Amino acid sequence: MTELQGPLTALESAPLALVIDLVRSGRARTRPELVTATGLSRKIITQRVEQAIDAGLLAEDGLAPSSGGRQPRLLRFRADAGHVYAALLGASEMTVAVADLDGRLIEDVHEDWSVEDGPDETMEHVRRHFDHLAQKTRLGRPWAIGIGVPGPVDFSTGRLVAPPIMPGWDGFSVRSWLRDHYDAPVWVDNDVNLMALGEWTRGSAPDGRDMLFMKVGTGVGAGLVVRGRLLRGQRGAAGDIGHTHITDDPAKVCRCGKTGCLEAVASGWALLIEATERAAESPAFSAAIRRRGHLTLADVGAAVVAADDLARELVGRAARTIATVAANLVNFCNPGALVLGGGVLRTGGYFLDVFREVILRRVTDLAGQGLEVRAASMDHMEGVTGAALLAVEHLFNPATLPRWVEDGSPLGHAADLQRLSNAFS
Ligand SMILES: [Zn+2]
Repeated sequence: MTELQGPLTALESAPLALVIDLVRSGRARTRPELVTATGLSRKIITQRVEQAIDAGLLAEDGLAPSSGGRQPRLLRFRADAGHVYAALLGASEMTVAVADLDGRLIEDVHEDWSVEDGPDETMEHVRRHFDHLAQKTRLGRPWAIGIGVPGPVDFSTGRLVAPPIMPGWDGFSVRSWLRDHYDAPVWVDNDVNLMALGEWTRGSAPDGRDMLFMKVGTGVGAGLVVRGRLLRGQRGAAGDIGHTHITDDPAKVCRCGKTGCLEAVASGWALLIEATERAAESPAFSAAIRRRGHLTLADVGAAVVAADDLARELVGRAARTIATVAANLVNFCNPGALVLGGGVLRTGGYFLDVFREVILRRVTDLAGQGLEVRAASMDHMEGVTGAALLAVEHLFNPATLPRWVEDGSPLGHAADLQRLSNAFS
């Protein structure tokens, strides 16, 4: 590790990163708790806490209840010491935000946007939102940027790889584009992974159990958090289940170019094609087409809520198909929670009811024990929150933190941090 020369070597500063991480994650709140949690001596802990306070990353905040002797001082992580930019691109919308170092959103903006407009226009648009939010919040340069995209991302390079619904993006490096415009480290991930990360960390029931997150909207995907970490696999492709082969029906042509994919049978776009073909059978669909000339998923969702027979037939069938695949995944990885997110939540509780019933019927007894099947709880903000958390986690991991902690901020270290964190991921 000779490349990490400086007043603090990686080995020496590892306890500092650990101390900050324990306070940041809420696992320790006082110096005695840090001693217990780390097994390090009181002297080392005292030194490291002073360093962290000097660096502006921890602060003292009142007194903890006494456990007998003197009341220990409470420590808190200074989430306001810096901020990150976060963005989540969906197929047809984007959410862009500025967040603090706890990944909590300070300002955000949501807009309909088609990624089919291509990488340059889309990224310019993201940049305009970032710059606007920067003006609005009057915060300086971001410490890092996290961004999610609706396609497969090679996590180590931040490049899209053959994304089925993003024409013109194949091989495009979201990371390089943002690095050229902001001197900040950038981490890029698949949108569903970030939804899983956001929901696992900040959702209604953050209980630490493993979580399988299923996104069902225009497309279908999954994200898995195991022991607090996203499972990305070797290159970042884990969870990309939308193009799993589920039928030999050659008529089920997928947007990826293959036939018989899960998405070709049960995704929002496939459902919309069938709903349009059969619209005459449904008063709700017929009315929507007369009004606008075409159907949208919002129309289908509203028709389901209004108990339209055809809408319920199509959505119920999609729910059963996706649940069958999800049940197989539950049997494989045995999560504590199976969370459903994406545009499908706009169908009221109908999809979730069908989905849950099939899941509980199809999973093995042991995998089903205590399995919670529920809807995502963050009103569609879990993805952008996950993007912020992605950036923060990579700034504060044991590989990157030693590089910048003595300066009190990672500004100016972008290239190093990017490289070091790849070794950690
Ligand atoms: Zn496909």
